[in-house]
Amino acid sequence: MSHGPLDDDAVESYREAGAVLVETMNEAREMVEPGVTHLEVAEWAEDHVREEGAGLAFPVNISVDEEASHATPGRDDNTEFGDDDMVCLDVGVHVDGYIADAAVTVDLSGTDDLVEASEMALEAALEEAGPGVPVGEIGAAIEDVIRGYGYTPVLNLSGHGVQKYDAHTGPNVPNRGVDRSVELEPGQAVAIEPFATDGRGKVGEGTTEEIYEQVSDRSVRDRRARKALEQIEAFDDLPFAARWLEGTGTEMALKRLKQKNVVKGYPVLKEEAGQLVSQAEHTLLVTEDGIEVTTAGIHSFD
Ligand code: MN
Ligand code: MN
Repeated sequence: MSHGPLDDDAVESYREAGAVLVETMNEAREMVEPGVTHLEVAEWAEDHVREEGAGLAFPVNISVDEEASHATPGRDDNTEFGDDDMVCLDVGVHVDGYIADAAVTVDLSGTDDLVEASEMALEAALEEAGPGVPVGEIGAAIEDVIRGYGYTPVLNLSGHGVQKYDAHTGPNVPNRGVDRSVELEPGQAVAIEPFATDGRGKVGEGTTEEIYEQVSDRSVRDRRARKALEQIEAFDDLPFAARWLEGTGTEMALKRLKQKNVVKGYPVLKEEAGQLVSQAEHTLLVTEDGIEVTTAGIHSFD
């Protein structure tokens, strides 16, 4: 994939998205306390992004303990944070389609170095990253740091490029030393996201599914499905939460739209029960001579 330099408007939009994300994340993480519900934090953060005049690149992800990704509360979810939860907060913001994607982990047990492992891995990855750097070298740096802590990187999750109104595209940035042939190129926007776990390092699909994405413009006849689809079209092909849909019967509508392959669902990705996962993520722009991190200011090393 060839890119060339980003134009000034695109760079400015990437920076604005990053700034809104940083401000939102730094307040949202302070809200993560025992007794507070996941839904309160997710809705506060999502409302705040919208109040800042930006858009959501995907629903606020709140993944606890063995969960690694794609968890967001449902509309009537009363789940509260527990005393020793390991909480990954992953936020995606866009300005005119230009995306910032970043994550922090809040360890309510306060006893573990699992959070430090993913944060230090991200810092090492950013030190490696730049134009012409093979993504596998970044992955190797991530893996080295995490294994140095005695943990395992989640090997089947990886960083990724972002493009206008596309939250997941190439290049794939692995969390291990593979893919040495693919290099970062100037003009790319890339999210790097190490995950560290005390588990086996491989996530599987759970049964919960609260995040969806439109994948086809095919029309549907079912009345409720059509009404839901009218709302879904406003999400610009970016992932959305089931709870964002207004009206009755939206669950049945989503089910129907999935059957017709108009939307796809993202099941929660998780390690085995009893294991813990931490995540740290930044978005960066690859420039001619280095990188610019658009989401700096959310990690201890920033
Ligand atoms: Mn993310
Ligand atoms: Mn990401």
